[in-house]
Amino acid sequence: MGIFKKFFDKLKYTFKKTELNDDFYDELESILISSDMGVETAIEIMDDLRLICKQKLIKDTEHAQIELKQILINRLNANEIEFNYPLIITVVGVNGVGKTTSIAKMTKYFLNKKKSVILAAGDTFRAAATEQLSNWADRLKVKIIKQGEGADSAAVVFDAITSMKAKNNDVLIVDTAGRLHTKTNLMKELEKINNIINREYPEAKKLNLIVLDASIGQNSIVQVKAFKDSVNIDGIILTKLDGTAKGGVVYPIINDLNVPIIFTGFGEGVDDLDLFNKESFVDKILM
Ligand code: GDP
Repeated sequence: MGIFKKFFDKLKYTFKKTELNDDFYDELESILISSDMGVETAIEIMDDLRLICKQKLIKDTEHAQIELKQILINRLNANEIEFNYPLIITVVGVNGVGKTTSIAKMTKYFLNKKKSVILAAGDTFRAAATEQLSNWADRLKVKIIKQGEGADSAAVVFDAITSMKAKNNDVLIVDTAGRLHTKTNLMKELEKINNIINREYPEAKKLNLIVLDASIGQNSIVQVKAFKDSVNIDGIILTKLDGTAKGGVVYPIINDLNVPIIFTGFGEGVDDLDLFNKESFVDKILM
């Protein structure tokens, strides 16, 4: 089963019609539009596909699918990231998007790469958040630095950096409070965390990642813009691609917002995370 099940099912059905005709093109266009890639992009992709199929005298959907795949890849302005260490990843996002799960998945990702990981429970706003992250830390057997509910999150981060340096850890992942981006206090808190990181470990590589729920489609664009107004955003973790037909939202995110997608999440399990790669992403849409 493809990970973008709904999108995939619709496409598969459309590609079953073996003959290239207007019905096929119309249906494909509406699938692309409903995937939230943006109407303009969807129409341009369809224009490209029609033109190429005409030029190459393609008459069946099987070959059209191969061409579509290439067009979809070419239109993604994205390169795979290379991580440098020591690395401090600060994770922001609205509650419920999959932030905690994504931190656990990234931890596993770096552990698989033989990197040592430490976590900072910077969401001191909710006791449950620290507890949830602690459970993951136990399961993944990594150290977590935490304090009580209501503690200063920047102080938690300070302690985590001290521990990271003492133990020579490769990666520190910092959770932050997931209140709405409209809350100025939260933005100030994020700024403070960033300042502590820069002051205490200037030579570490830093990445501020925002977690977005792909199923909310175009609304995720609004969330990125809102956070970007206050904090530097280096990349995106796009979650819940398994349960949505809106995977096309990667196009406006990458091409319009100019923020790279670093990881994609496609399930609740700790291994359900991929480093974003445009070829395999498009493969998963179409296969
Ligand atoms: P947080 O509030 O942002 O920290 O969100 P959580 O990490 O607690 O996740 C909220 C819910 O979304 C949980 O039930 C997760 O299991 C689920 N979830 C997270 N990532 C994914 C994903 O990629 N796919 C699916 N299907 N569910 C996910």
